[in-house]
Amino acid sequence: MASKGNVKTIQSLRGMKDVVNDDSKLFTYFVENASAIAKRYGFSYMETPILEETALFKRSVGESSDIVNKEMYNFTDKGENEVCLRPEGTAGVVRHFVEKKLDRAGGTFRWYYHGPMFRYERPQKGRLRQFHQFGCEVFGQASVYEDANVIMMIKDILDYFEIDFTLEINSLGDHTCMPQYREKLINHLNSFKDELCPDCQKRIETNPIRVLDCKVEKCNELTKDAPMITDNLSEQCDEEFNKLKEILEYNDVPYVVNKTMVRGLDYYSKTAFEFISNEIGAQSTIAAGGRYDRLVEFLGGRETPGFGFACGIERLLELIKVKESQKEEIVYIGALDESCLNAVLKTANAKRKTTKTFIEYTPRGFGKHFKLAEKAEASIVALIGEKELAEGTIYVKNIETREEVTMDLNIFSSKTTMINKKASNITDTFPKIEK
Ligand code: ATP
Ligand code: MG
Repeated sequence: MASKGNVKTIQSLRGMKDVVNDDSKLFTYFVENASAIAKRYGFSYMETPILEETALFKRSVGESSDIVNKEMYNFTDKGENEVCLRPEGTAGVVRHFVEKKLDRAGGTFRWYYHGPMFRYERPQKGRLRQFHQFGCEVFGQASVYEDANVIMMIKDILDYFEIDFTLEINSLGDHTCMPQYREKLINHLNSFKDELCPDCQKRIETNPIRVLDCKVEKCNELTKDAPMITDNLSEQCDEEFNKLKEILEYNDVPYVVNKTMVRGLDYYSKTAFEFISNEIGAQSTIAAGGRYDRLVEFLGGRETPGFGFACGIERLLELIKVKESQKEEIVYIGALDESCLNAVLKTANAKRKTTKTFIEYTPRGFGKHFKLAEKAEASIVALIGEKELAEGTIYVKNIETREEVTMDLNIFSSKTTMINKKASNITDTFPKIEK
């Protein structure tokens, strides 16, 4: 056996992070509150497998997308199946929808999900290989009011976390206007094909609209005068896009139209949108989505309108601070003498029915307990010594107000909240022991 000194330590894979400590606090804070908002909008939680057939993403996200072309974690499993760690969440939800024949059931389905996604990208700030998304999908609603409804829900979520954003919207037309526009664009792009970057030269054949949002400066310059889809919409698509703008204005949701925002996935039609943070650097898109009225069909179901979005949780967490009012109250309980440990454990257990309680097993003096309580971020320190044990009392200190009291142990154990506000008086909540 190799001696301990020779054992090579194993590190997490490049672009994959443990979510722990302050990060995990923020993570759950975000997921819990975003979920609560989504539920109020009628979405219910859904979880799909992380591993899916590779064909699912080829058919939905599209063979021409960066995700399918370059970023998938795909492999052949032991049963010779071509499988893939999901790079995004929509495809799995649509697979479920079609598999369960919900396209035949009619009605509206609203689901939200959150979980890890995998993309083999070059890791950098805001760009990981395993990252997390929170997303929502709606099926069965063709109304543009639903587009606005979901956009307003995302605004509610971002507002809740006090995240400053710019909302960009565009329309990608539908099967009545996109094919003609595509031809027009291809003709235009072919006139300077050789000057485009190698990726864009390929995109002319596979997905020409993607040339418009290429990140290469030269391509941007060249396509400045290209025809734009928004100027080539069918009457109906144009009306719906105008309606969307009108609804957003009526509801005081500021937006800008970005005619070159086409989104990286092949399945969008009509509304496409992105929420861009005004505070983080290059990777600034924090939520993105749109309408996908043809996707159910692409995956073998009956034509069903769909709308959805996903946001990158890691990118959002860089912008979030836990509000003071949301901070959890923590009680620290310890023993001043060895003989009190049983009472300490019993009290902590009672307290935990209502309050997060931290227990210290080693008997210590007041000073040391206060230091440990501070480390545990406790707002209340409660200690039992031999004197308190004999009296059936407990010593309690509110760290914020520095108030101290010795009180009845049973009352302490049964009280739910001990400090409401900084200014509150501990003795209002706990009657002092009269001796
Ligand atoms: P980008 O242009 O930044 O690559 P994308 O168009 O590939 O984004 P989507 O597929 O729309 O992104 O995913 C929705 C959101 O998920 C993004 O807006 C972003 O916040 C987040 N996201 C995407 N890829 C990553 C990644 N590799 N690491 C962290 N977050 C990501
Ligand atoms: Mg990407």
